Amino acid sequence: MVNFTCPKCGAALPVKPGTQLAVCSYCGTPSYIDRREAIFFYILPFSITEEAARAIFKRWTAGPSCPKDMEATAEITALKKEYFPVFRFRRTVNGKEKITSKPARGTLLPGMHTIDIPPGDMIIFDSNSKTGGAEILHPDIAIDSYIGELEGETIDQSLVYFPIYELKYRYGGTEYDMVIDGSSGKISITNSPKRSSVSYVAVMALAFVLGFIGTLLGFLITPVFFLLIIAGIFAGKILAHKVVKKPEGGNA
Ligand SMILES: [Zn+2]
Repeated sequence: MVNFTCPKCGAALPVKPGTQLAVCSYCGTPSYIDRREAIFFYILPFSITEEAARAIFKRWTAGPSCPKDMEATAEITALKKEYFPVFRFRRTVNGKEKITSKPARGTLLPGMHTIDIPPGDMIIFDSNSKTGGAEILHPDIAIDSYIGELEGETIDQSLVYFPIYELKYRYGGTEYDMVIDGSSGKISITNSPKRSSVSYVAVMALAFVLGFIGTLLGFLITPVFFLLIIAGIFAGKILAHKVVKKPEGGNA
């Protein structure tokens, strides 16, 4: 047994080594146990429904950053409602309070390293917390692994279950990932289909170059034609003189 202290009531919290979740026998508050201390669990409730998340995706596909046919042809292939674990560090840096969030679980999902937790909406997570059918993803990164890289002094730190919609969609034969923040509706993407601005630029550039060449040719060719015509007339006259004169001179 290792002894921790309940972060809420200060009572002793005996914990078996290797345990991650401990519930205080006095106040019933669950804590996340790290190697060094017990920290609070919080949960941030969903304020975006699954229907609203689909609508956010639809609106995004119709937006200016997406290819024109995307709204009509992109298809959601998977939509998972999840609570993603995030460490929230509240620290004093140069006399000011600074809050930093770090993922508490290894992930390649977009946006998980830049999560913004609205502090007022967090509620203590315990066995009574309603998850609204969302899957709880558990932490697999120790809080200690981040402490060394953080500036300043600890005020407190906690683990927050952050609401997300993990969305996969297919467009043009390729599948893409997206995360919709279940609290704010903010979209995070790593890569997405791009509107082909290349063709427009290429057409404009080609038109410009052709126009330029046309103008140049217009300026160059017209005088050249006149010169050729004049030269042709002179050449004709000279030749005519020679041809006409030669027999005359030859015969005379
Ligand atoms: Zn307690």
